[in-house]
Amino acid sequence: MKLISAVVPCYNEEAALPYFYKEICDVTRHPRLSEYEFEFLFINDGSSDETLTLLKDMAVRDDRVRYVSFSRNFGKEAAMLAGLTEARGDYVAILDADLQDPPSLIPEMIEYIEAGDETGKRYDCVATRRVNRVGEPPIRSFFARRFYRIMNRISKTDIVDGARDFRLMSRAFVDALLELKEYNRFSKGLFGWVGFETKWLEYENVERVAGETKWNFFKLLLYSFEGITAFSTVPLALSSVTGILLCLVAFVALIVIVAKTLIWGDPVGGWPSLACIIVFTAGVQLLCVGILGQYLSKTYLEVKNRPVYIIKEKNTESSK
Ligand code: UDP
Ligand code: MG
Repeated sequence: MKLISAVVPCYNEEAALPYFYKEICDVTRHPRLSEYEFEFLFINDGSSDETLTLLKDMAVRDDRVRYVSFSRNFGKEAAMLAGLTEARGDYVAILDADLQDPPSLIPEMIEYIEAGDETGKRYDCVATRRVNRVGEPPIRSFFARRFYRIMNRISKTDIVDGARDFRLMSRAFVDALLELKEYNRFSKGLFGWVGFETKWLEYENVERVAGETKWNFFKLLLYSFEGITAFSTVPLALSSVTGILLCLVAFVALIVIVAKTLIWGDPVGGWPSLACIIVFTAGVQLLCVGILGQYLSKTYLEVKNRPVYIIKEKNTESSK
């Protein structure tokens, strides 16, 4: 029998977990999945509520339940990496604990990987994207859309708007992801970077079943910077181009001023304009140094080579 690992990052999900567990258990009884075994791999990302106690209870009652508990909150990216590393399945699915990623899509996903689509084309990965963002604050949707638009302009890696981290992957795909050892992980980009054939399923946005979202605007903004620096060096090129352009402008202005003085003997006036120019150039310089700093800081973190997460306890050993 083939094994499907369901990787579930959990951060303060005590309210949503019981619903999630019930739903995923229902899915495992789906007729199309009768030939498969399951393991549910929960990653407790340093929750401060009763998430871990709940997981331990579940593990006692159901031996398909595995948990890995971090020593503190390391973020969803770290939790997903831990899940992929620990998963033993022939197929691995990543799902949110809040049921925003409907587990009921798993049978269909398995079908695409095992049997292929109508034309018989087989896939290594079946990913999902939301076709709308109902229930999300409009300002968040607006910036999310801008982010994907800019990202796809400045990066060669395809990053799909509305793509969720919810996907089912073959072992080959997971192993390829695990080859990427980087510290600053931006999975939405990494999934595209490794290649393989990906089938996209679309679904309407579902609101979280219980509990609260762990992302605020500022966290998302920082995460978007992560994505940009991890998958594009265009900002660096832009700052060089801005520098060149400003030099050109300054050069032309210099010639104009010299010529004017020589021909008409104008006294050089206008210190307000001078002040504006100084402030403007200083601003541009700081902006460019800031961009450079973003890349440098990421490089710094990479070079330190710290582990992405630290496991405090888990109930099973990984196969590797
Ligand atoms: N999550 C996590 N660590 C974090 C933040 C979130 O493991 O630091 C998990 C969370 O428990 C959930 C998933 O990541 O299962 C998605 O989080 P959330 O639903 O808060 O994000 P949203 O759906 O609002 O984007
Ligand atoms: Mg959610």
